[in-house]
Amino acid sequence: MNTAAPILLTPGPLTTSARTRQAMLEDWGSWDDRFNALTASVCAQLLAIVQGEGSHHCVPLQGSGTFAVEAAVGTLVPRAGKVLVLINGAYGKRLAKICEVLGRDFSTFETAEDEPTTAADVDRLLHADKAITHVGLIHCETSTGILNPLADIAQVVKQHGKRLIVDAMSSFGALPIDARAVPFDALIAASGKCLEGVPGMGFVLANKQALAAAQGNCHSLALDLFDQHSYMARTGQWRFTPPTHVVAALHEALLQYQEEGGLPARHKRYADNCQALLEGMADLGLRSFLSAVIQAPIIVTFHAPTDPRYQFKDFYERVKAKGFILYPGKLTQVDTFRVGCIGHVDAAGMHAAVKAIGQVLQEMCRRELARESL
Ligand SMILES: *Cc1c(COP(=O)(O)O)cnc(C)c1O
Repeated sequence: MNTAAPILLTPGPLTTSARTRQAMLEDWGSWDDRFNALTASVCAQLLAIVQGEGSHHCVPLQGSGTFAVEAAVGTLVPRAGKVLVLINGAYGKRLAKICEVLGRDFSTFETAEDEPTTAADVDRLLHADKAITHVGLIHCETSTGILNPLADIAQVVKQHGKRLIVDAMSSFGALPIDARAVPFDALIAASGKCLEGVPGMGFVLANKQALAAAQGNCHSLALDLFDQHSYMARTGQWRFTPPTHVVAALHEALLQYQEEGGLPARHKRYADNCQALLEGMADLGLRSFLSAVIQAPIIVTFHAPTDPRYQFKDFYERVKAKGFILYPGKLTQVDTFRVGCIGHVDAAGMHAAVKAIGQVLQEMCRRELARESL
């Protein structure tokens, strides 16, 4: 799809279309009505992706995804609240760290990196600790690509009368979430992931009542979503300097998202990418870390080849020279590397990536390309 520059097989920043990048060639004034219309259109489209128009506000925020996660916790969890953080990877740990830094009381429940949190776990934990007010969940834990059962967990949280905060950064726009059926106070994502915009803007889909009740909670001026939302609702403008080019690119990326066929089409393309990747890598003898049932079609973790001549850095540089950017592993116990399935890339691109990986392993390890155990 994009032969001049390398294809980023990473979970954001990722490969964008030329059309999306082109949308950044204009300078926008933050007071300009046309720019404010772009922001309003982006927010409306983001809400529509989860059928959240009736129940939620979209609050955009300058910065990377983590800024939006921190803003959601800081704004929506009262200072006397307590968060149960569900962890099976690095982003779950980061969510706990945010609670710690913000001085919000929290407890953690950690499962292995290849083990989803279950609704039964959450039910048990909420029974055991009545002080918990909020549950924090990572939908797709990008450090492995594991999918956690959001809909089931959301029901249990609701049954207990508690609030749910979902980091859906790497799943939003590609995996279906229906706000009418899945109750959440906050669903957080960003411009530069499955929507295929450029990085620089996060957003929080915040439950209207929860946001209305959040005045004065936030520890931070810049990250206060209540203020950010009230100012925007009043003026149509961002409270502080907006990431104008990022918003324009996201708007253009959303037009393409709709033209492609919206969420079902995005999901299918990524699922096809994932399938092409898994099959091709299996043919090279490379095993994926997760079993297929818990693998989200977002990013795949592979065991590193055991050949002593394999070094990730060397491997990375050689694959990069062939036009593909891979991603290091993020697991503490096992040596792995990751390959993203998301971005402006299709199954043909994934086949080409697998071919390049096979050639590189052959160069590095002087191994045959035929099936062999590594
Ligand atoms: C990308 C991502 C984030 C945000 O990371 P930033 O580096 O701040 O953009 C948060 N959670 C998950 C699950 C992610 O994939």
